[in-house]
Amino acid sequence: MTKKDVKKIECEEAIRMLLEYLDNELDEHNHDSVEDHLHACRACYTRMEFESRLKNVVKEKAQEKAPIDLRNRIKKISEQF
Ligand SMILES: [Zn+2]
Repeated sequence: MTKKDVKKIECEEAIRMLLEYLDNELDEHNHDSVEDHLHACRACYTRMEFESRLKNVVKEKAQEKAPIDLRNRIKKISEQF
């Protein structure tokens, strides 16, 4: 893992940006900060997984057919930790 100059953020800040993080709406810097925090903080990571799953359920309900490829990718990502 490359060590980048990532700003350290608190749980509160990470949670506040979590939904935007999941939607990929954060700028690169904030995205990295949240990601960094999630790697370091089990509590926020669990929260992120929960939100992510919730989002997927909503998405699947909305379009019924979620691309299998995407689901596998999300599964792989969560297995990395
Ligand atoms: Zn945290």
